[in-house]
Amino acid sequence: MATQLTPRRWLNLQEYQSKKLMADNGVKVQRFFVVDTANEALEAAKKLNAKEIVLKAQILAGGRGKGIFSSGLKGGVHLTKDPKVVGQLAKQMIGYNLATKQTPKEGVKVNKVMVAEALDISRETYFAILMDRSCNGPVLVGSPQGGVDIEEVAASNPELIFKEQIDIIEGIKDSQAQRMAENLGFLGPLKNQAADEIKKLYNLFLKIDATQVEVNPFGETTEGQVVCFDAKINFDDNAEFRQKDIFAMDDRSENEPIENEAARYDLKYIGLDGNIACFVNGAGLAMATCDIIFLNGGKPANFLDLGGGVKEAQVYQAFKLLTADPKVEAILVNIFGGIVNCAIIANGITKACRELELKVPLVVRLEGTNVHEAQDILSSSGLPITSAVDLEDAAKKAVASVAKK
Ligand code: GDP
Ligand code: MN
Repeated sequence: MATQLTPRRWLNLQEYQSKKLMADNGVKVQRFFVVDTANEALEAAKKLNAKEIVLKAQILAGGRGKGIFSSGLKGGVHLTKDPKVVGQLAKQMIGYNLATKQTPKEGVKVNKVMVAEALDISRETYFAILMDRSCNGPVLVGSPQGGVDIEEVAASNPELIFKEQIDIIEGIKDSQAQRMAENLGFLGPLKNQAADEIKKLYNLFLKIDATQVEVNPFGETTEGQVVCFDAKINFDDNAEFRQKDIFAMDDRSENEPIENEAARYDLKYIGLDGNIACFVNGAGLAMATCDIIFLNGGKPANFLDLGGGVKEAQVYQAFKLLTADPKVEAILVNIFGGIVNCAIIANGITKACRELELKVPLVVRLEGTNVHEAQDILSSSGLPITSAVDLEDAAKKAVASVAKK
């Protein structure tokens, strides 16, 4: 059974933040300002003093070009030659929801708009760099058919998708960047320029510990420039300790409040629509827990991932968050104490149960370091906690406790 987890990125940057990183590292992007009022949009347009201006709604979802605002305005990306129109357009963007095929139906509220110098695009290609598990390293992916949905190109014209595997120790070779530029259809002097941008993007990818840098469109202008018109970057969560400046930019404005509350305690929260709350450590265990709940006829309400290096106070906060959700009719704790000491979890659980006066059934499966002491703590607590011997048992008991209601 396929697990229905939406993988929420821990770190999310808006387009303008990604482009700032690119510009700071010599990658060619349009000149831009970011604004949050229509007046500022107008001022920005004047300052840019460009032949044409492009306004772009800043939301984390893609497909903005074809999106629709709750104000009625069509398109999350707008071009105009008239600075006065910039203000009018911004007014219909800021504060309204933009719905695209990647957002929920009601869309996502637009708080910021990028006001950039528009350029005449003569050709749109697709270029991305990703960390690819099957290649054990970075891969360049490109297509001369850009601007559009790349999945569609991959399905209809797979021969138009080009890949180039990079040896992470040797780095990107000139010949590889040149070959990709050629496959993308850049000709003459544009080929060198494109190869140069590709190398700069690769170096940026490494420097910032990205897992993906996607540029769509990676375009060419009528004036003979290769420009990154759009940007999406994903980062390796494990690199947070050495990418503090980048992680500090995390845009959480589109998160659920509960996700942000969880983040304050170094917990990761994923909301789902069932009724069994899951308290786990590690993404793998989260997936397994989800599957086994489904297999036993239940549905998870959410996941709270504790990660490693757990403190008792975190366990308490975790319970507080889980029980605050009115959908939750039972809690399943499934923790494997490899790095985590089970006794700390058990103490956290009993403390939380007492202080929060837990009203819903609680099923606990602990395994690993110090598990016997942990079980003693739970069983001598006098609290109505159901212990489970393994994951299967835990899921069955949690599902049964909900069914009984
Ligand atoms: P997305 O729809 O969320 O992927 O947003 P993009 O940033 O990719 O913009 C959508 C489309 O708008 C692009 O594919 C371009 O065709 C167009 N676009 C964006 N910036 C410019 C620009 O400066 N000039 C022109 N002519 N078109 C642009
Ligand atoms: Mn795009």
